[in-house]
Amino acid sequence: MDKTTSLLPDMHQVHQKLEAARKKLDRGPRIIATQERLRDQKQEERDSLKTKLIDLRKTADGKSLQLKSNEAKIQDLQGKLNASTTNKEYEIISSQIAADNMANSVLEDEILEALEKVDQGLQAIADAEEAIKTQEELIKKTVTEVNASKPGLEEQAATLAAELAVFEKEIPGTMMDHYRRLVGAHGASCLTAVENDACTSCYAIVAPQEKVQLNMGKVMLCRSCGRIMYQQKS
Ligand SMILES: [Zn+2]
Repeated sequence: MDKTTSLLPDMHQVHQKLEAARKKLDRGPRIIATQERLRDQKQEERDSLKTKLIDLRKTADGKSLQLKSNEAKIQDLQGKLNASTTNKEYEIISSQIAADNMANSVLEDEILEALEKVDQGLQAIADAEEAIKTQEELIKKTVTEVNASKPGLEEQAATLAAELAVFEKEIPGTMMDHYRRLVGAHGASCLTAVENDACTSCYAIVAPQEKVQLNMGKVMLCRSCGRIMYQQKS
């Protein structure tokens, strides 16, 4: 059997292991990026809660100011009531004071409600800060883990890449361009095992004549998907 063909199954394994190691290396930074995006989102939510709280506070303050001004008005009316000289005048001022007292009572309820909303807003901000802190801790933990596993994975990938380079020297020069294209398009599945007379990547049936050539050790490409075929070791 041709040396190249006999090496293909092992070469395929090295390709797969290398791809797995590189995927693991890529995965770490992607997880961190996702966790950071979530933290940024939580920070935006907190900032919008802060803006909302300022509005709630302004509403509460505005109503408190209104109440004070109304109270001053009532006091003023009270003075006028005491100085009133006619029954009619007394009645008009009395009913005005009653109406203003009623309005103030409504205003007091509204102030209580607004202050309650301010408290809820403060609590929501505190909860958001806590969630951001938790997320920051998670990011820190992931970064530590990713950094700890990185050197080992990099070493593994480098060793596998060197092993692969040795295998690649055995690929016929005429096939090298095609091989590079296949690696670019399919990664580790640039090679494909033949099982039960079919390509295991695209399931095209290998013709009897091709099977003979494959068994003779000739490097063959799948007619359908173009991958480099090898006979699966039994
Ligand atoms: Zn195929």
